[in-house]
Amino acid sequence: MTRVSNKSDKLLTAARKLMPGGVNSPVRAFRSVGGSPPFIREAKGAYLTDEDGNRYVDYVGTWGPAILGHAQDDVVDAICKAAAKGTSFGAPTAAEVEMAQVIQGFFPSMEMLRMVSSGTEACMSALRVARGFTGRDGIVKFEGCYHGHADSLLVKAGSGGATFGVPDSAGVPASLAQHTYTLPFNDADALRALFAEKGSELSCVIVEAVTGNMGVIPPTAEFLRALQEVPRAHGALLIFDEVMTGFRVARGGAQEFLGVDPDLTCLGKVVGGGLPVGVYGGKAEYMSQVSPLGPIYQAGTLSGNPLATAAGIATLRQLEDPTLFQHVEETSITLQTGLASLAKAFGIPVVVQRMGTMLTVFFTEVPPLNFQDVQACDHSRFGRFHGAMLDAGVYLPPSGYEAWFVSAAHGPTEIELTLDAAKAAFAAC
Ligand code: PMP
Repeated sequence: MTRVSNKSDKLLTAARKLMPGGVNSPVRAFRSVGGSPPFIREAKGAYLTDEDGNRYVDYVGTWGPAILGHAQDDVVDAICKAAAKGTSFGAPTAAEVEMAQVIQGFFPSMEMLRMVSSGTEACMSALRVARGFTGRDGIVKFEGCYHGHADSLLVKAGSGGATFGVPDSAGVPASLAQHTYTLPFNDADALRALFAEKGSELSCVIVEAVTGNMGVIPPTAEFLRALQEVPRAHGALLIFDEVMTGFRVARGGAQEFLGVDPDLTCLGKVVGGGLPVGVYGGKAEYMSQVSPLGPIYQAGTLSGNPLATAAGIATLRQLEDPTLFQHVEETSITLQTGLASLAKAFGIPVVVQRMGTMLTVFFTEVPPLNFQDVQACDHSRFGRFHGAMLDAGVYLPPSGYEAWFVSAAHGPTEIELTLDAAKAAFAAC
């Protein structure tokens, strides 16, 4: 079956004249899997409908936020009620206090926090806090981890950068990039060696402790130990970027699952209930250095605006019920085991790695531990698999370097539909 794409294709032609690649974020252009992207008209629950009327079971979930499913009734209701009272005040509100309290309930390590409008801003600001507090310029990140598109962080990044094989963006000043040290993920020795040599110049280590932007990869026990010990031994901060893993790997993020107490944490995606929100925060010792209390400047016209806080609170309040998360995780396990056994039945080398409610299907024999391993996966096979799934009505992230996201709206019907589609897609790829 080939889906009808007349309207989407026409829109893509028009869009390409107006926006680079016809899109407002690169991976949406489908360059790495081939084919052309459906233009989405609407979404409800676990489903997307495109402009040609094709319906898809969605595992992108707006790249993570839609943990309750799309256009969830309580969230939509909260946004509408808030909008009627004014969309932005640029002044403090009760909802911001409530949202901060709710977030802290999930992330006790965030003694103080600040809301911004994207994950990029959250990570960029957390770096500034680390640099401002320590008075050091150096930062350490890991190959394949993506922390948004701020200059200092766009060095050997995952996600879109990984997809296009352009790990270092043009336009990042060399004088800035030289302060970013990039190490292989899961390499404790490399981390120790770098700090032994440069420790006094390094302000922080920022990490997706469970990666999502090169697909789902958990940390080894040794790497996790090194993350907790090494930076702090040298007076540097440990920053957990939980923009993707927050409310996804566990309700309290990778830090809850792994039992780590980071100095700073970055959130985004689920925390905003589908509206543009990021949050950064951590120990009061560091956050109390942020303006207006201290010398580290950071601000935002739309930060903490009423629509964002309404959507965030409506989403997070539902997650306070642990059974909801358990349900999404159980659905994710069913999907993981179903996909793995189908691939096995077809004799296709596949590893399905899952943490909480996110998973990645890697076309490889051995579980990937780092970016190099992910690069070695069969990405052209993933491209064929992706195309067959799309034609069969399943919308997957258009790259083998990404995580799939399951929601509370995915039930037995959607999983059955997905596994039926996967059976045909494995047979064809
Ligand atoms: N950090 C991580 C771990 C992310 O996954 C992302 C986005 N995929 C970001 C930061 C950047 O967030 P945003 O796209 O909202 O700027």
